[in-house]
Amino acid sequence: HAGQHKWNFGAGPAMIPRPVLERAQAEFLNYQSTGLSLMELSHRSQPYEDLNNKAQAQLRQLLKVPDNYKIIFMQGGGHTQFAAAVYNLIAWRHHQNGAKGDWRQIPVDYVVTGSWSAKAAEEAKRLGANLRVVCDAKKVLGAYTGIPAEETWATSDPQGATRQADAEAGQKPAYLYYCDNETVNGVEFPFVPSLHDPAVPLVCDMSSNILSRPVDVSKFGVIYAGAQKNIGPAGVSVVIIREDLLQTSELKDGLQPVPLMLDYKTMVKNNSLYNTPPMFAIYMSSLVFDWLLDPSAQRVQDGDASIYPHSSFVGVEAAQARNERKASKLYKALEDSRFCRIVVQDKAARSKMNIPFRISATPKGDSSATTDKKKDEEMEAAFVAQAEAKGLLQLAGHRSVGGIRASIYNAMTEEGVDVLIAYLKEFESQY
Ligand code: PLP
Repeated sequence: HAGQHKWNFGAGPAMIPRPVLERAQAEFLNYQSTGLSLMELSHRSQPYEDLNNKAQAQLRQLLKVPDNYKIIFMQGGGHTQFAAAVYNLIAWRHHQNGAKGDWRQIPVDYVVTGSWSAKAAEEAKRLGANLRVVCDAKKVLGAYTGIPAEETWATSDPQGATRQADAEAGQKPAYLYYCDNETVNGVEFPFVPSLHDPAVPLVCDMSSNILSRPVDVSKFGVIYAGAQKNIGPAGVSVVIIREDLLQTSELKDGLQPVPLMLDYKTMVKNNSLYNTPPMFAIYMSSLVFDWLLDPSAQRVQDGDASIYPHSSFVGVEAAQARNERKASKLYKALEDSRFCRIVVQDKAARSKMNIPFRISATPKGDSSATTDKKKDEEMEAAFVAQAEAKGLLQLAGHRSVGGIRASIYNAMTEEGVDVLIAYLKEFESQY
């Protein structure tokens, strides 16, 4: 396929805009005239300190992060943040409780809408926390195909009064947790939960949709994201935390100490330079932030300056407009197809980043035909194989669920989505 254009529909890692990769290549051997590659510089050097500060400032600008929030770069990916949230916020709540009582009694509330929030909840339990699953979409809907109404969650409390469950537990939960975009299942929140007790901070995993749309950071206690989808390469996670929640625990009152590398407060105190940071991943993230903030880059990406004519049309607002156009045309093509079935039934909760679907040899609406699972799977395998040959890469669904998944992060151009839609139609016409 020499010279053939490749379109990357993989869910991660990592989807990085082509111009960003080209810039990194050009700067690789000589970072800012230092004569060294960025990776060879000391992380205590001025050029690196400047880069660290710049990347934080860019993220603050892109997400309009209020002044009373801190931005941290950490290591260990999403999984490490599953644990960090438990340790740090139980320490905070324990402190709020006057450092009295057994920390294992402090509830932590989880909304489970897909496999990543389920894993996060499992980790909380594994670490000994008092896990309360306040909504389990699989139990309510039979599968992870939507988001049950917030009014039905066990945490719902429009009046902000103490809930029955909290009264029984003798205290408020440390936090309410959810995952904004379930990468495997293709379920994305169209709202920010708002019916819970406002004294309970929201903790949100935005690993796979951060920077895809604006977000009101002031509604959250902690937002975190592994970088390797919409930001940069694997190796760095960003954490945005309201500063009053920073609470380091110590070996006293029977409280679990927070391991230093998971401790938000230690990271903030050291400006994310407590130990050697993942410099290259942070550098690449900064280049992606530059790209998002550059109006000419955004227009080139759209390939049609007339769609977004304003030079000020930059950042996550521009990304959101493009993401909505891309997702809506792909969902429409899937709905129009007689062979494709969109997995997520709840239309409002359909992800604009990860779009799982199934292909079936039995056309929709043909009640006379019986479903043949083996034949369907063969057809899906043929769909993925023929796509690869055409340069449409990594379309297979997550290994836990099978099927097809098209991931269309910020770096995917509208042209790439058009090519996929044309291929869908061509594939269908063979049958
Ligand atoms: N959360 C979400 C939403 C994810 O998509 C992923 C990985 O794909 C994770 C958490 C886990 O991230 P990591 O592999 O960096 O631990």
